[in-house]
Order: sequence, then C-alpha cells, then structure tokens
Amino acid sequence: MMVRLLARECLEEAGMTVIEADNGEDAIRLFALEKPDLLFLDVEMPAKNGFEVCEAIRAMSFGSTVPIMLATGAEDKASIDRGFSVGATQYKTKPINWSLLSRDIRYMLRAAEAFIELKAQEDRLRYLAYYDHLTDLPNRRSFLESLKSSLERSAQHDDRTGLIFVNIDHFKRINDSIGHERGDQLLKQIAERLLASLARIAPVLPNSEADAIRADSGHMVIELTRPGGDEFGLVIHALRDEATLVAVGQALLDALDEPLQVERHQLVISPSVGLAIAPDHGDDPQTLLRRADTAMRAAKSDGRGRMRLYNESMDDDAAERLRLEADLRRALENDEQLNMVYQPQIDTQNGRVSGVEALVRWNHPELGPVSPVKFIPVAESSGLIIPLGDWILRRVNRDALSAGQRFPTNVAISINLSPLQFTQSNFVENLQHILAELELDYRVELELTEGVIMSDAQDSLEKLKQLKTLGFDLAIDDFGTGYSSLSYLRNFPIDTLKIDRSFVINIGTHDGDGIVKAILGLSQALGLKTVAEGVETVEQATFLCEHGCSSLQGYLFARPLSVPALLDAVGQDYLPLMKCDPEVTTSSAD
Ligand code: C2E
Ligand code: CA
Ligand code: CA
Repeated sequence: MMVRLLARECLEEAGMTVIEADNGEDAIRLFALEKPDLLFLDVEMPAKNGFEVCEAIRAMSFGSTVPIMLATGAEDKASIDRGFSVGATQYKTKPINWSLLSRDIRYMLRAAEAFIELKAQEDRLRYLAYYDHLTDLPNRRSFLESLKSSLERSAQHDDRTGLIFVNIDHFKRINDSIGHERGDQLLKQIAERLLASLARIAPVLPNSEADAIRADSGHMVIELTRPGGDEFGLVIHALRDEATLVAVGQALLDALDEPLQVERHQLVISPSVGLAIAPDHGDDPQTLLRRADTAMRAAKSDGRGRMRLYNESMDDDAAERLRLEADLRRALENDEQLNMVYQPQIDTQNGRVSGVEALVRWNHPELGPVSPVKFIPVAESSGLIIPLGDWILRRVNRDALSAGQRFPTNVAISINLSPLQFTQSNFVENLQHILAELELDYRVELELTEGVIMSDAQDSLEKLKQLKTLGFDLAIDDFGTGYSSLSYLRNFPIDTLKIDRSFVINIGTHDGDGIVKAILGLSQALGLKTVAEGVETVEQATFLCEHGCSSLQGYLFARPLSVPALLDAVGQDYLPLMKCDPEVTTSSAD
C-alpha cells in the first residue's frame, strides 16, 4: 500500500497518469483494458506475483513491447535473472529511491519509443523482403517459404497442400501494347479480382483472421502470392481434397472471365492455371513447384484460358515440346522441311473455287509429318512464330507467283495469323513489305482469331483499319468459339466470319442447326461473308448453302493441296456436291 501511494505521488507530480491494480490478476485485466505505456510491478503481490504477471503480459499480442519495470525485494542474482527471463525491461531493488523513479521511468519510455521506431523500420524491411510492392501480395520469397512450411505441416498432420500457378497468357504482348504503367495497373486489378473471389471460398492470407486460423491447424487457408511478373502462386494450407483444389482453380478462371478496364482500354485476358497436390504429386517444394509449372504449361498448350491438374504423362509432353522447339528452329534454318498447302473454298453461288486457305506443313526428318495443331502452339510459346510467320508469308508469295497465269487472280488467298504476330508493333509494315509483290494481283485475306481482336480492342481497331486501307480483307477465324461481342463486330472492319468446324459437325442436330443458322443470320445482318470450315458431308453442304453461307471449305470438296493439285481443283465445278439450287438461295450480302 505504502509503495503504491508513494509511487503514484511521484509519478503524478511528474505529469504522468497512474492506474493502480490491487493484485496480480487485476493488473493483467487492467493492462488489457487500458493498454498503458509502461508497467511498474512489485514482485510481491497477492493472487499472482510480479514474475507471473510479467510473463502473462509478454504473451499478449500488444504486451510484447511495453516497457516493464519490476521492483524486487532483494538484490539477489536469482530474482534479477528471473525478472529478465520473464521479460522485464528494468528492475529496481527496494527500498526504492523515490526521487529518481520518475526520471528512470522517463528514460524507459524514451527507450521504448526508440524501440518501437526500430521495430517499425524492421517491419518495413520485412515488408520489402517478403511482399510485392505493386500488388501488396507476398512475393516469391514468402511464396517459397510458405510452401515449405505448409508441406512440413501437411506431413505432420497427414493432410494435403495444394499448389496453383496462374499465368496470364500473352502478358508481355498486352504490356507492350498498353504500356508498362497500365500493365502494372492491370496486374493490380487482377490481384484484387483473385483475392475477392478466393475470399468466398476460404480465409485468404495475408490477413490477420487467416493468420490466426493458420496457427490452428486443420482449417483450410489459401495464400495468394505473386512470385513474379505475370505469375501468381497459391499455396493452399490443409487442403481437403482434389475436388476442392479444382474448385479453387475454377474460381480463378471465373474471376478473370469478365473484361478488365484500364483507363480507356477494355482488356480481355485469359489465365492458364496449373494445379498440383502434395503428397500425391510430390512432397518436397522443388518437385511440387515443377509439377504445378508443368500442369500450367500443359494448360497453355491446350489452348490457353484453361486449367490442368498435373499427371505423369505431362512430363513426356513437356520433353516432346522442347524437342519440337529445337527441331523447328533447325527446320526454319535449313528451309527444307516446311512447306505450304492450300485448301480450296467453294463459292455456293457457282460451285467454283473462290478462295484458298494457306496452311503450313512440317515434314520432320524422323517423326514424319507433324500437325500444325502440335507445332504452332510450340512456335507461339517459344516466340518462333515470328520468324515462322515471316517464312509463311514469303512462301505463299513465292508459290502464288510461281503458279503464274494458271493461278487465277480472282481466287483470294487466306493466311492465318497468330495473335503474337498481330500484336508486334511493326506488324503492319512487315506484312506490307513481305507481300509487296503479291498485293498487285491477288486479294489477300488475313485470318485472325476473336481473342486477338478483343484482347485490346482499341489497339486492334487501329491496326485493322490500317490493314483495310492497305487493301487486305479480314476474316475472323473459328468464329463463335471465343469471346465475341456484337458491338465489336459492328465496329470493326471485318469482311468474313469463318464458322468453326465444331459447329459444322453438329449440323443435323437441333442445337447444331440453331447455332449455325444464328451465325449465318448475324453475318447477313452485318453484311459479312461466311465461310464454313470442315464441311465433310453433302448434308452439311446443302444445309449451309440453303441458309446463305457464302463459301464452303472441307474434305467433301478438297483436302489442303500442293500447288499443282490446287491448279487442277481450280478448274472444277463442285456444284453437284451441294444439292442446293443457287437460284432460290438467299445470298449473303456481298
Ligand atoms: P484452322 O485455321 O482452323 O484451319 C483449318 C483446319 O481444319 C486445317 O487443319 C484443315 O486442314 C482442317 N480441315 C479442313 N477441312 C477439314 C475437314 O473437312 N475435316 C477435318 N477434320 N478437318 C478439316 P490444319 O491444317 O491441321 O491446321 C490446324 C490449325 O493450325 C489451323 O486451324 C490453324 O490454327 C493452325 N495453322 C495451320 N497453318 C497455319 C499457318 O500457316 N499459320 C498459322 N499461324 N497457323 C496455322
Ligand atoms: Ca484458319
Ligand atoms: Ca478455323
């Protein structure tokens, strides 16, 4: 009592506010309630002694840094040591020199302030070391550390860890076209979208609620990180099962389905998502990372905007892709294994060849013919599509010129362009340069996919206008399979829609007929031509012809042909294969 009274007097005189507790338990309760700047404890107290109180307060989250002064009865080494070991900052032996108490306490407070500042600096350093300043997500280092700790925890508790890689397709291209600053904004928005959608599934790190749950094992917690560039990494702690992992992956895809707005750019992005589970696919970080990465790459080569769960056969695929890439590089250098074939497009009005689609072929010295379905994605992911694309343009130019007079100039040549080519900044000049000789005599139609046009509508519109001005026709390839917006179709200077083979196959079924009729109706309303791809039966041809499709392309008429075979086909009349009376057909607007 006496000690407390004297202490209060000294300290209040020095301008401090004093809160008194009657015993040890009261001290803990009041500390939690009042959160004082400093604690002055007597070792000898009822209910709980000073050591115990000190220890309890240090265990509280806001009690870890508060300065604590302990008044001990004896200057014996044992009780001083005990005082420090329970976390006291300073000790005083009784009897206390009251005249010095307020001064000592001031020193302690000042030291505490300096300490808090240091701690803030340390937190800042920690933030820099562990967080990505752009998105505020944990960075690569935290990602790797938390994967490691999640795997260790899973091994102890006999549960699973999920790992997900999300890679934004063609991010470099988007970045180049909208500029790096807007690219950064886009990444921030992506991070926000992902966080919001994940939060609906489970607590997401980093935040205090999730932190608390993670400490308590057994509850699923998702950690979203940005290990680098256009890649996001997710560690799923205490994952229940594979189905849950797949659900998380699907949520990520869904979250990025809607276009994002960065200033005046409306951007459609697609993520490729790879999934792996420990211990099923490996129980050490390196293996699991490699497998999630393999799965992500498999998703990419499946056509992007997809998700894949790792399986063993993917490793073989990855090795094969690497080999193809090296071999394709060589093929481009020696210029002997590649060539072009041309598939006729038949005009439904007169049964004559009105156009040809140029398709690339690769005759591999050991593997034989390799399908473009296989090697075009390899060329795209390795960047080889740029030299390959140039090679294709040159070869088409050369083939058409070599056919000379026999290749009628009223037959249009369609050339497929990869999205990567289209978004090169010098794309238009390069194209013009390579096709300079052809342009005089032939109509050249460029086939682009919906995705490339929509990915940055503003930039695309400019380029498409330039191409039109230069005299190229423009076709949308695989129409209906990607993201399409009617307003874009109306505003873009497109000439032709190519109806994808997957729709043509379903002609004859109720839904299939409906879709094809809808596409034909739409393109007529917009004044566009239509080319149906993959026509294999007379029934399909007749249906398409009767509903106003402009041209048909498919094995029913001809496979992709070498130049001499094409020259034969150009002379033929294919009208009998369509069983469609051109007189009664409503033609699409020309
Ligand atoms: P695509 O542009 O949709 O080309 C049409 C594909 O359908 C061609 O396959 C063609 O041979 C095939 N096809 C045509 N008629 C029929 C049919 O009646 N039945 C069936 N089952 N298939 C038919 P191909 O030549 O294997 O090309 C596949 C894809 O590879 C092309 O799809 C295109 O995306 C890409 N590709 C081919 N050549 C080039 C090229 O020169 N440049 C670029 N960038 N991509 C190319
Ligand atoms: Ca095509
Ligand atoms: Ca196509």
